[in-house]
This record gives sequence, C-alpha cells and structure tokens, in this order.
Amino acid sequence: MSLSRRALLQLTGTVAGGLALSQLPHAPTWAAKPMAAELDRELKVCDPPGDPLQALLERNRGFSKAWQAMDKEPDPEARMRLQAGIYKSGCQIDPSALDQGQRPWAGLLSCADARVAPEFIFASGSGELFQVRSAGNTAFDEAIASMEYAVSVLQVPLILVLGHSSCGAVKAAMGSDPLTPLLEELVKPIRASLVSGDSLTKAIAGNCRYAAGQLTARSAVLREAQSSGKLAIHSATFDIATGLVTVV
Ligand SMILES: [Zn+2]
Repeated sequence: MSLSRRALLQLTGTVAGGLALSQLPHAPTWAAKPMAAELDRELKVCDPPGDPLQALLERNRGFSKAWQAMDKEPDPEARMRLQAGIYKSGCQIDPSALDQGQRPWAGLLSCADARVAPEFIFASGSGELFQVRSAGNTAFDEAIASMEYAVSVLQVPLILVLGHSSCGAVKAAMGSDPLTPLLEELVKPIRASLVSGDSLTKAIAGNCRYAAGQLTARSAVLREAQSSGKLAIHSATFDIATGLVTVV
C-alpha cells in the first residue's frame, strides 16, 4: 500500500522532533546513519498525533473492551474475530520500509510475563514499540543502555515502564523463598523499591516508579533528554483481568 493511501486510512502526524546528540552532555559517539526523507516518512506513518502516552492509553482502551468481551465469549471463532478486531484501527508499516530502518514512537520497559504482550495490549504493529523486557521490568544496565539508544538514536519521545497485576518477580522479591544467585540479583532492585507494609498491588506500582526513576538517575542521556522536553517518562500497570493499563 502506498504511503498516501495509508496516510488517508491511518492516524498520521509526527511526534516530538529528534534529539540533537551534540546537545547532550554525554553524547554517544555512535549515531544513526542519515535516513532518506521518504523512508523516514514511511517509517513514521504510524506515529500518533499528539501525546504518545495518550495514544497508548487510547489504543489500550480498545484492547481492554475486546479482552473483556473475549472473556465472555465461548465460541472460539467469535473470540478470534474479537482478537482480530483489536488491530482493526491500528496501523501497519510496509515490511520493505522496516527492512531499511526503524522509527518507533514509544519505548517500553515491561515485564517478561507471558500475559503482558505490548503489541497486543497497545494494538501496535512492527516498528512502533521499542521494547526491553525482563522479569520485574527492572532498569538494569542493559535496559538503560537500550533506552539510551532508543532515545538518542531512534528519537523515541516516550518511555513507559509497565508492570502488571500478580507480578511473580515482585512476589518473589517480597517473599523469603530461596532463589538462585542470578534470581537474587534480579530481585535486588525490586526489593530496593519495596515499602514495608505495602500490598502486592502497591509494591508493583512502587517498583514501576522506582524503575522509572532509575532511568534518569543513572543515565545522563535520558536525564538531559527529559529535562529538555524531548523525552517523557511514565510508569503504568496492566491489569490482567480487565486488560486496562493505568498510569501510576
Ligand atoms: Zn511480572
């Protein structure tokens, strides 16, 4: 499908402009190769107009309706139709354009839990969401470095830290069951976020806020991007029962 045809059918528009690497205090020495203007436009065809966080939440509301309807629908074929409908108002970028580059419009630091599938719950296609996933959605070094790349090279204007209900990693951090040495490392930052007496729900939200704080506390690139208005960082939780994402 041509760009103009898609532009008529899909939400278009551009999000915040690119980050000037030279303006960053610790600008990385690497950078994206210049991209042809036409390719750049093609890759941005799915960029929602306005606030990218609101766009994620709006898409999620559509997902949530279908998710809840699927729960009440016993017929497998009808369920499949509901599932397919989630993507009805979504957007697609030509694979041939994706083969040449990417221009994601949101970064997600989310849990590895199999029930938290970002493309599904935000009704997004390939090329839209830049993702780092690990159990407990923790801002490990590799996660922060990946987000530095997303923001400074791919010009991603939003990072959303996404936790979820019944998170096993947060439960493990709150518990006292013996863990393997590597799992002990994994829950260490989650434990650092815990507040005594908090419920699991509060602990999950607190862990998201903590991870979001770590992104800027430990990365000058992300801190500078945020303070200059090029980057917004938020945290949210996904409720598995309702399918709804709520900003915390
Ligand atoms: Zn989890």
